[in-house]
Amino acid sequence: MTGEEFREHGHAMIEWIASYLETVRDRRVLPQVKPGDVLDALPAHGPALGETFGDILRDFESTILPGSTLWNHPRFFSYFSVSSSPESMLAEFLSAALNQNGILWKSGPALTELELAVLGWLREWLGLPERFFGVIYDTASISTMHALIAARQAVAPETREQGATANLTVYTSEQAHSSVEKGALALGFGAANVRKIASDSEFRMDVAALERAIEEDVRAGKRPCAIVPSIGATPTAALDPVSNILPIARACGAWLHVDAAYAGPAAMLEECRWMFDGWEQADSVVMNPQKWMLVNVDCSVLYLARREALSGAISLTPEYLRTQSDPRLVNYMDYSVALGRRFRALKLWFVMRSYGRDGIAKMLREHIGMAQWLAAQVQADSRFELVAPVHLSLICFRLRDSNEANQRLMDAINDSGFAFLSHTVQNGKFVLRFAIGNYMTTQEDVAQTWQRIQALAG
Ligand code: PLP
Repeated sequence: MTGEEFREHGHAMIEWIASYLETVRDRRVLPQVKPGDVLDALPAHGPALGETFGDILRDFESTILPGSTLWNHPRFFSYFSVSSSPESMLAEFLSAALNQNGILWKSGPALTELELAVLGWLREWLGLPERFFGVIYDTASISTMHALIAARQAVAPETREQGATANLTVYTSEQAHSSVEKGALALGFGAANVRKIASDSEFRMDVAALERAIEEDVRAGKRPCAIVPSIGATPTAALDPVSNILPIARACGAWLHVDAAYAGPAAMLEECRWMFDGWEQADSVVMNPQKWMLVNVDCSVLYLARREALSGAISLTPEYLRTQSDPRLVNYMDYSVALGRRFRALKLWFVMRSYGRDGIAKMLREHIGMAQWLAAQVQADSRFELVAPVHLSLICFRLRDSNEANQRLMDAINDSGFAFLSHTVQNGKFVLRFAIGNYMTTQEDVAQTWQRIQALAG
């Protein structure tokens, strides 16, 4: 591609994205495709000769877009709703142009030091103490896996030499995201050593049950390695009582890792600080700017209070990566299983500077306000019930009817293409999840979706 062609296609693509964002509200959120449809529409073999950029873009519009679930849509209310803000998109473009790979300070001095700087800013915004050292990974699943690596090094440093031993245990809530167990499985803790602690009527980890499980395990010769509470657990955004769990972790010597992948940004809000009580004493914390903080996938931040536990477990320096040492030099490869790392701090920097702390807080408050409004509507309609407290931007509700009726209601709204909701099952009951979190979402989007849900409920 010549410079002239790059300008032409680049401008056309920006134009395409701008009009896409202006009209996305009119599109279906869920595509009308069956498994295999997109694959069948694609050639079975790659082209021997290069094709024109215009042809590829046309196929993107005719084949890829109609088969895409539109996450960056104001009525995407599924899973945890997320945003790819324009600022983040453009920064991603720049990052691809530089194509830096931040394995070492030397391979990306600005990449490394911008990551240090923005994670320092973010740490302050979240109210975490200075001892927390941040690392950006692709996802919360990988952040949590690294937290478990650090936990094992802190509790059983012999593992590095001898390999995984079978008597280390991990405790999390039955409401925790599956990434906690998956990380433990990948690291060889063994499924039998992952304890899923029961939750209470508000889906919070039952602290007495946690204590009992640890006592039993210690009596049986197990070694508690990590306790993983969530602030904003996936099914209902439940808030585990971190400050009550903290002394238990300290007493048994387990590492305390807090999963605040979704809720983390709310720590910036004075009125939400109570939810985060105790997380400042944790050994590690994960929060995802790619969820509720305007940064496009991927971007997850792990804060470690004892970073040497992670580097102690996995740092290795092959000869070709040896460089000078300097007290101010950080080589992020020492904190990551992956060697290569993208310049994710760039988009976080663009977002943090463009919106400022107050701009982000304003969006969070608007989303929480919409959630409160919707929770009140649900309560005002006797056909429905709220299933969990609404503290943040997730509303969990159901028809006072059979599971099948609730499933049909969710399928009907999703099949309509107007909005996309997901579900959970709690105490055997099918529950609809309405998650607000996209920067384009307005009160009207929420109200119109609620009206349609009411109409479909019959
Ligand atoms: N933790 C929580 C609380 C989540 O809700 C999720 C996903 O929604 C994850 C972890 C995993 O996130 P990721 O997709 O970044 O691995």
